[in-house]
Amino acid sequence: MKNSRRQFIKNTALTGIILPSIIKEFPEVKNSESKVIQYPITIATWNNKKAIQAAWSILKAEGDALDAVQAGAMVPEADPEDTSVGYGGFPDRDGDVTLDASIMDHKGNAGAVMYLEGIKHPIAVARMVMEKTPHVFLAGSGAKQFALENGFIEENLLTEKAKQAWENWKLNSKYEPKINSERHDTIGILAQDSKGNIAGACSTSGLAFKMKGRVGDSPIIGAGLYVDNEVGAATATGLGEAVVKKVGAFSIVEMMRTGMSPQMACEAAVKRLLSMPNHKDLQVGYIAINNLGQYGGFSLQPGFQFYLIQKGKAKLVESKSYFKNK
Ligand code: ASP
Repeated sequence: MKNSRRQFIKNTALTGIILPSIIKEFPEVKNSESKVIQYPITIATWNNKKAIQAAWSILKAEGDALDAVQAGAMVPEADPEDTSVGYGGFPDRDGDVTLDASIMDHKGNAGAVMYLEGIKHPIAVARMVMEKTPHVFLAGSGAKQFALENGFIEENLLTEKAKQAWENWKLNSKYEPKINSERHDTIGILAQDSKGNIAGACSTSGLAFKMKGRVGDSPIIGAGLYVDNEVGAATATGLGEAVVKKVGAFSIVEMMRTGMSPQMACEAAVKRLLSMPNHKDLQVGYIAINNLGQYGGFSLQPGFQFYLIQKGKAKLVESKSYFKNK
């Protein structure tokens, strides 16, 4: 696919025709493998309808995939009712809300923050790390300092609802961090714009009532998120420790590179989790797109969903899963 695409680009360069303009004029243009191009597209984990609508409004106006995924991720980050992302996210077992986020653009640039406290939009800070620093990861107080220096304001992110849930958890938990297969609502969002460029973003408050200092997969490039414009992109939700150990998103992109469809690659990545002794007790969901704008999604346990808009058509998909019953 890579070679044929290169050849295609080479040919169009020779004839003086630019790829984006062909796509605009002939939206059904096929690549040399006769697969219909399915972008623009944006897709997110879970029923993140409002996030996808925000991302789509940018893609529709021929905006960039990077702006689209950031705008999408910022929706649940600001929503106090979303208890797994940003403001309103459930705290760690000490009652502190700590946020993780990552972002990648079509050039392979990446930025991420982890263990960030008091800043409502970690995805915007992650993008600034990517664009304004020579680094990829900033963590904890350093990430916060960087955010404050760049105009972000400090806010209390612990809502009454989240505080109450934490108080209730404390009653019976014996302060033990637990893995669970519910309550995974991390937003992972991917987009391919009308130019064919791909970007991705991932944002979370992590596992509810996690150990202090715990960081999951979402800010880890290759685990919770990976983008390669030549191939496609993937993102994850679910138990971060499992996704990190299997380098989930990167493995999906690499499988797509060998010719697998996004659906096949997500299924193969989920099957890799079966070698883990605790796989029956954990949940992981993956979504992916390839460079034609085709998409896929798959999870270990039932109950995972994803939402997308592809060429203007919106869809909530009940994901297929490896196990059929809980
Ligand atoms: N993947 C996230 C984490 O482990 C959690 C989630 O998806 O809910 O931090």
